[in-house]
Amino acid sequence: MIVRIVLPSVILPSIEYLRSEIINCATIARISRGKRDLLTFQKSEEILRRILKMKPFPHESILEHSKVTIYIRGSRIITHQLVRHRFFSPTQISTRYVQPKREVILIDPTLGKEAPFRGNTDDPNWTEISSLFARYSYQGFNNAENLRKNRGWTREQARYLFPQCLAADIIISANFREWRHAISLRDHKNASPEIQYIFKRIREYFRLASPTLLEGVYGENHDPDELLKEALDFFESEMGNWPLLVKLREYFGTIEKK
Ligand SMILES: Cc1cc2nc3c(=O)[nH]c(=O)nc-3n(C[C@H](O)[C@H](O)[C@H](O)COP(=O)(O)OP(=O)(O)OC[C@H]3O[C@@H](n4cnc5c(N)ncnc54)[C@H](O)[C@@H]3O)c2cc1C
Repeated sequence: MIVRIVLPSVILPSIEYLRSEIINCATIARISRGKRDLLTFQKSEEILRRILKMKPFPHESILEHSKVTIYIRGSRIITHQLVRHRFFSPTQISTRYVQPKREVILIDPTLGKEAPFRGNTDDPNWTEISSLFARYSYQGFNNAENLRKNRGWTREQARYLFPQCLAADIIISANFREWRHAISLRDHKNASPEIQYIFKRIREYFRLASPTLLEGVYGENHDPDELLKEALDFFESEMGNWPLLVKLREYFGTIEKK
């Protein structure tokens, strides 16, 4: 069995999809004023900006007409934090029915630190500290497997020995209002590094899709053009030749050339 230590990851819906959900929210907002028009994305952004800047309170309930599903891979520690959000609809991989076969994936706890544990047991550059982390974490998993195979423990009993860093896949659907709230809380310096890492990526992606969507959210106080530029720079430095970046360039090429 290979033991692999990885970073958390997210799979996000397409920019087109996020934008179609924004158009949907804006169209519904117009219906509340007796208007039934076919909106462009730009027009929808204008409408949404007005709604989210309303004084004394923004009309955030309009954002509940959207649905955004995000696939997250993280440790059991952060999936536990994610399910505390009451307007998230989560589905999580089962440790009763799904058993790792060829590899055990662990989430690196050294996020943001200089000496990451990342790599796998097949890697010749595997460091001593990574080996130690992998060995202790794998021990819990391996003990569970032994008890199951040799002592007749059931899967639901054996899984109590699994380490918390075991990678877990969780798919979350929620509306824009709840994603905005979660970004404020979780892409924040008080949140744990792993969940910050995930929500930083969600925040930057939302910024790319729309300069308006995060209006009023904690941490959003600069010029929309600046934000878009920051988000593109962020993805470029992070993702290298990641295929999504190529798609993003198609969208934002003109801004990049500025
Ligand atoms: C940095 C950090 C540290 C944390 N530490 C701990 C900890 O040590 N222990 C712990 O148990 N939890 C902890 N949490 C979890 C935290 O207490 C919340 O459960 C979690 O952040 C979800 O936030 P929420 O309740 O605002 O949001 P959601 O559940 O996403 O709800 C969204 C919003 O809807 C409204 N709402 C939802 N339900 C109700 C309701 N029943 N009544 C009235 N209004 C409602 C509120 O305005 C709420 O903010 C921590 C969270 C963070 C970000």
